[in-house]
Amino acid sequence: MTAILETSVQYLKGVGPGRGKLLERLGIITLRDLLAHYPREYDDRRRFRTIGSLRHGERACIRASVVSLEVKRLKPSLSALKVAVSDATGTASLVFYRKVNPYHRHDVFGTLRKNFTEGVMLCCAGTVEENFLEKQIVPDDVELEADGVMPPSFGRVIPVYPLTEGVTQKWLRRLISDNLERGCASWPEYLGDTDRKTLSLPDAARALRDIHAPADPAAAESARRRLAFDEFLLLELALTLARSSSDAVRKPWRYEIKRSLLTPFREKLGFPFTAGQKHVINEIFSDMCAPGPMHRLLMGDVGSGKTIVALSAMLLAVENGTQAALLAPTEILAEQHFLTISRFLAGLPVTMGMVSGRTSSKKAKKRAAQSALSQGEWDIVVGTHALLEDDITFRNLSLAVIDEQHRFGVLQRAALRGKTVHPDILLMTATPIPRSLALTVYGDMNVSTIPDLPPGRTPVRTLHLSDAAAYHQVREEVRKGRQAFIVYPLIEESDKVELKAAVQEAEDLSTGVFLNERVGLLHGRMKREEKDTVMTDFRSGKFDILISTTVIEVGIDVPNATLMVIEHADRFGLATLHQLRGRVGRGQFPSTCILLGDPRSDDARRRFQVMITETSGFRIAEEDLSLRGPGEFFGTAQHGLPLLKAGNLLTDQALIESAKDMARKLVSSDPALSSAALAPVRTGLRQAFGARLALFHVG
Ligand code: ADP
Ligand code: MG
Repeated sequence: MTAILETSVQYLKGVGPGRGKLLERLGIITLRDLLAHYPREYDDRRRFRTIGSLRHGERACIRASVVSLEVKRLKPSLSALKVAVSDATGTASLVFYRKVNPYHRHDVFGTLRKNFTEGVMLCCAGTVEENFLEKQIVPDDVELEADGVMPPSFGRVIPVYPLTEGVTQKWLRRLISDNLERGCASWPEYLGDTDRKTLSLPDAARALRDIHAPADPAAAESARRRLAFDEFLLLELALTLARSSSDAVRKPWRYEIKRSLLTPFREKLGFPFTAGQKHVINEIFSDMCAPGPMHRLLMGDVGSGKTIVALSAMLLAVENGTQAALLAPTEILAEQHFLTISRFLAGLPVTMGMVSGRTSSKKAKKRAAQSALSQGEWDIVVGTHALLEDDITFRNLSLAVIDEQHRFGVLQRAALRGKTVHPDILLMTATPIPRSLALTVYGDMNVSTIPDLPPGRTPVRTLHLSDAAAYHQVREEVRKGRQAFIVYPLIEESDKVELKAAVQEAEDLSTGVFLNERVGLLHGRMKREEKDTVMTDFRSGKFDILISTTVIEVGIDVPNATLMVIEHADRFGLATLHQLRGRVGRGQFPSTCILLGDPRSDDARRRFQVMITETSGFRIAEEDLSLRGPGEFFGTAQHGLPLLKAGNLLTDQALIESAKDMARKLVSSDPALSSAALAPVRTGLRQAFGARLALFHVG
């Protein structure tokens, strides 16, 4: 049955290796992929309109007969063919454009001329353009009516598919429709009759047929809901299975809250925890003290104080004689964490070290780190991805904290699991996501939120100004004794050309507008020692202005800095802008964020607007999600989520709930899903998640 769906599209009639390659660009490799290439929208061609009723700007479908033809040379290299057509109510012209080679006498309209002879009936779908002289239709589909038989792409609701260069709408429609019936016959059915009835969903074969060839828009939507339900069902099943398998797991160690480190840490801190911090620390401690491993996601806006929450958890591990690791997505953030934590722990009997790409590249350093970790000489280690390399082993790692988790993929988290038995895992993110979504995407995790910021913070004011006005403000702040960041967008820290431009601009500024201010420069390609020196000097006030690339995006903490100027802010996404803005407003002084640049696209303008009016990371994340859609927002591929093709995480909440219910029922009555009736579901799960299924409970 399913073997048919695994057929490579190359072998389908009319495809072959060349077109197979093109289809691959659309993610279409097998017949299954082809049929799961759902329409992006539909063109309703059920009813023809009369020419007399057409209005400018409309999309419409007409049936008319050819009156006359006229070719016009618009430019030396461009010709137009105007086909005048009429019905009982009026006349319109269909206009076709063709590039011409001025040195050739080839008739570019040859075929069209041959077809459109006077009196021939045709059907046409297109966009109406009306001026005071005439009605024109820019056609996207024209078919001749042979012997009064309506062409197949008219008189119906027609699917409109996402395309790629070299694949035409017409060809893809044809290919899908030619293979549809065969696919419907093999398409898996996960639901029984009663389930379908209670959920009022059509059967799977019907749904597949209707999503590609619906009788009307309602049938298409009901088909989409059914196919979406199947996607959600598999997703929820995977999550439920993951959770139920990890529920049974027992950690090989037990923690006890001894306070031998926690109390001195808290006393040295110099400020009390916020209510939110206390609350989440309690949640984390109770997870850690439970017999099963912790899988917790900690969400807290930029500046809400996640670091000391993480540190508290790590100290609990260390108090109990085990090791804890903190993983950061970038080198500079790892360094920052290392410095902060060293400061917080000064005087406490805790040893710590750092592992990054840089340590890994120095043999002696790497060997020292390896032995410190495997011998247990380091209680705490801070690091980047380098910590996950195979040759790093731990004596007894019990807790892994992952900062800014959305940059880590599932597979990397799986690598972590290879380092120790059932570690407690705490993911931290400043990109909060709506709770309903969190429960779907992180269905196997518990979620904690820090809702408050430490006291005394005033929200950062955000402005869109000209360069001159911004630089003036920078000088003003510096005059008052404050400090400023100026950030350049480097999309790739490794891009040498971009880097050179940023460095050049920095030099121009420091020898120009900011001749009298002390300017430091920071970028990702500097040596670690250099970066450290620059950061330390900036923090201690040796520089007034720090010009930087986005390496400072996350985590940097300098309370005296009150102004963040973001150059080319239109090139950044909302998450990054919010992170950058979070670098100021961390002390007692009111702070400002200035966006420079010219937002040309609607999206960029919207992002500026959101930044100017919103300060809450939660609201910004929601906007970000609606601007980018969940796929991009989560970086689906990296996340390990299967791509949702019919379903929408944002708008299909009710369907998701029903899918979740059903998943729970199935797993509780048949924990291994081993019954014969569930065979299609088992295949579907393997299909959608493959090897990743085993990794789900990693987080
Ligand atoms: P984020 O959640 O963005 O990682 P950080 O952990 O970097 O935030 O904390 C931001 C700043 O707030 C740091 O300077 C930190 O020392 C300070 N901070 C954290 N908790 C508190 C608190 N309870 N009271 C006062 N300041 C705090
Ligand atoms: Mg942080």
